[in-house]
Amino acid sequence: MNPYRNFDNYLKEYPTEDGYFGKYGGNYLEDAELLRAFCEYAEGYNTIAQSAQFIAELRRIRKDFQGRPTPLYHCQKLSNMFGRTQIYLKREDLNHTGAHKLNHCMGEGLLAKYMGKKKLIAETGAGQHGVALATAAAYFGLACDIYMGEVDIAKQAPNVARMKMLGANVIPVSHGLKTLKEAVDAAFAAYSREYHEAIYCIGTAAGPHPFPLMVRDFQQVIGDEARAQFIEQTGHLPDKVVACVGGGSNAIGTFVPFLADPVEIYGVEPLGRGAALGDNAASISYGREGVMHGFNSIMLSDENGDPAPVYSNASGLDYPAAGPEHAMLHDMNRIHYVTIDDEEAIEALFILSRVEGIIPAIESSHAVAYALKIAREGKPNSVIVTLSGRGDKDLDYVAEHYGYGDAFLRKRGIVLK
Ligand SMILES: *Cc1c(COP(=O)(O)O)cnc(C)c1O
Repeated sequence: MNPYRNFDNYLKEYPTEDGYFGKYGGNYLEDAELLRAFCEYAEGYNTIAQSAQFIAELRRIRKDFQGRPTPLYHCQKLSNMFGRTQIYLKREDLNHTGAHKLNHCMGEGLLAKYMGKKKLIAETGAGQHGVALATAAAYFGLACDIYMGEVDIAKQAPNVARMKMLGANVIPVSHGLKTLKEAVDAAFAAYSREYHEAIYCIGTAAGPHPFPLMVRDFQQVIGDEARAQFIEQTGHLPDKVVACVGGGSNAIGTFVPFLADPVEIYGVEPLGRGAALGDNAASISYGREGVMHGFNSIMLSDENGDPAPVYSNASGLDYPAAGPEHAMLHDMNRIHYVTIDDEEAIEALFILSRVEGIIPAIESSHAVAYALKIAREGKPNSVIVTLSGRGDKDLDYVAEHYGYGDAFLRKRGIVLK
């Protein structure tokens, strides 16, 4: 018996034409110019992205430029170490630029080209989205303006250098706290001024309609490939699928093809230092319904309904909301939202590095850590984990704060053979 047969028509039903996933999503922007820009965008996406030509060109780019399909790798040593759970990694770390973000940036770049736009505009926090988008802009021969808080520019020198090397303009934002929130405002303001020539490209499956839909569609390649690869390797479906949730793009792309299958799905949120407001970025686990950045979802907010301060040692996960589709799937009880703290993630990073020779991003390590939790239960089952990115960007931070693994693992009573 498949308990999830009622999800057979899911993709036809959600989102609605105006971008709603149940009561979540929509477009709550107040600026009339921006609303016009987003309407044009949604229309462009709905017509162009369904054309055979667009789909064929995107498929070619994924294969020849990005290196897709990425492998689905059966971690035999890791699986043997913990008993009877078979762990498979969907290797988005092997996607060009080292993470899944390029999947939607190439789609957004291609859409810009078909819409006759000359420039891509975005904000970036840690710089990962900026680098992926600058890569897409270089590929398509488009200009690229990346808005970035001055505080983040100082902290993320290697990614700033990458963006500049790729030909992007990194535009410092110097008001307020000089971080991601101010950069979002500056990028929206620029888009409102320049939308005749430019499109705005979001970094995750959040924001006003059409972004949650568009980013999900472009990221769905992860789950489509993983599902087919798993069936080809084993002859059956996995029991469980796991991915980390920041804004939710790698997770929704992984999950959607499995929604109508008898498969348990886990979205892993960062618990950071703990459950108190400000110590984590587990938006669905600890947040409530609210509107920010132009969309309705479940988010961590203060008493005025404004985005609350968030924390995780994974800079790609410290976003105060999850995308609206995650909020709805949570309310439907279709996806389990669970948490992993800073140290559990680092433990998984060290274990995967030593046992399998794969250094994962700290973000992705949250998903790996939850798979290890499942494995420690000792039941016979199989798990696909999306490894959203590689850990090279995190090496200095990990070495400085947690060392290279010997003392850390010993302290936690873990012996590797
Ligand atoms: C940005 C990022 C994430 C989080 O973004 P989602 O939109 O939630 O997928 C996860 N992993 C890596 C490696 C990232 O760069």
